[in-house]
Amino acid sequence: MNAAWNAVIGLEVHCQLATASKLFCACRNAFGEPPNTLVCPLCTGQPGALPVLNREALELGLRAALALGCEVAARSKFDRKHYFYCDLPKGYQISQYDQPLCSGGGLTLATGKRVRLKRIHLEEDAGKAIHDRGQVTLVDLNRAGVPLIECVSEPDISTPAEAHEYLSALKEILQFAGVSECDMEKGSLRCDVNVSVHRAGTPLGTKVELKNLNSFAHVVAALEYEIRRQIEAYESGEPSRAPVQETRLFDVQRGETRTMRAKEDAHDYRYFPDPDLPPFHVTREHLERARAHLPELPAARRKRYTDTLGLCEYDAGVMTSSRALADYFEATLRFSSSAKDVANWLGNEVLALFKDPSSGVRAVDELTFKPFDLAQLIELADSGKTNRAGARTILRAMCSTPKAPRELLRDLGLEQIEDTAQLERWCREVLAGSERIVAEVRGGNEKALGALIGPVMKLSGGKAKPQAVRDLLGRLIAERGSAG
Ligand SMILES: [Zn+2]
Repeated sequence: MNAAWNAVIGLEVHCQLATASKLFCACRNAFGEPPNTLVCPLCTGQPGALPVLNREALELGLRAALALGCEVAARSKFDRKHYFYCDLPKGYQISQYDQPLCSGGGLTLATGKRVRLKRIHLEEDAGKAIHDRGQVTLVDLNRAGVPLIECVSEPDISTPAEAHEYLSALKEILQFAGVSECDMEKGSLRCDVNVSVHRAGTPLGTKVELKNLNSFAHVVAALEYEIRRQIEAYESGEPSRAPVQETRLFDVQRGETRTMRAKEDAHDYRYFPDPDLPPFHVTREHLERARAHLPELPAARRKRYTDTLGLCEYDAGVMTSSRALADYFEATLRFSSSAKDVANWLGNEVLALFKDPSSGVRAVDELTFKPFDLAQLIELADSGKTNRAGARTILRAMCSTPKAPRELLRDLGLEQIEDTAQLERWCREVLAGSERIVAEVRGGNEKALGALIGPVMKLSGGKAKPQAVRDLLGRLIAERGSAG
């Protein structure tokens, strides 16, 4: 019997560095500006323009290297990688060929499996060609010259799920380290995949490259399709179907990959050292500065949240799902005594706001209220000044007004009702019309009581405390039982 098929997967992740300016000129590094407004003679490829290395890009590259445990090369250089395309007016991209910024390093998946990195190098981005405008292709060079790091993994990944986990972990680290926004919608994180299949104990199959995958879901779908395609091709036994070394594109609509071009080898690019850029030396000083700016990484934060703050693993994971959320969590903690409550409110109510378009906020950086306000709101709810539903209404209001939670509590009339005589009147009113449920409760079905709480809450305009209503209903039913 034949051994099972194994997939061998390596990932190349291109990640835009969060610098103020481009890699070799002073043009601004920004997304969403009108086309061709962030350009100069250098990044449009005019003859005679000279590149100068942006020190901030180097520092962010070093920070990535340190965060991922790579070994930084003492001497590194830039090379020209030649190819012709309309979004690359110089006819070459400045990249690093045989002396990259760093090598080694890697990250560990939840299963304990280590995915090693081969290298990380610095390079400039190309411009953007826009093909979907009828008969013409438009070229926008705002992106040309934006600094990238390319993180190349060893082919240590075996399944699409592992690829997804690796990408999530890599993105998390680069985001937390402040290296990149890693925003796939803005194209600041892009992924190429190498994949081959072979039977255990037999030589590796032919490697196929899948290019320009711009979401993690696409990486998974493209890999699933491509692994199946390669296995079927080998199993068919037809030489004409055997996978060839090529670059394929993933067709998102059809969920399949198709040939884009024969894969280039390195010699097709005619790499040679860029004569305008001398080799550079990474000094101890460079490294120390990068190390000093390396913040606490997500795994370390998660550990601190569980060990020191007493959060459960799940909440610690949610709070570190982005650096912005983790920072907001810690800022709110400065005004609140309960880490669990803050995690609960952020993880449930605030994240729910982001999923609801009518809230007008989609991310932490769009929140108009401050951590102090959130802490105040949590305090109102915890002290029983309003119930959970009331606090939720106040939270929504806080998204569109600068008023303090306490003011909104009053303005919206959401103070929790403490008048027990009034509560009792409402409870009796509901009990009077619910003989069947009352009988069920008396018969021992405690759960039936739940059906009575809603109507009382409704009579109170949502201002009663659900637990108080439950207690009161229970008592009234018990009293009626003993009376009758
Ligand atoms: Zn420029």
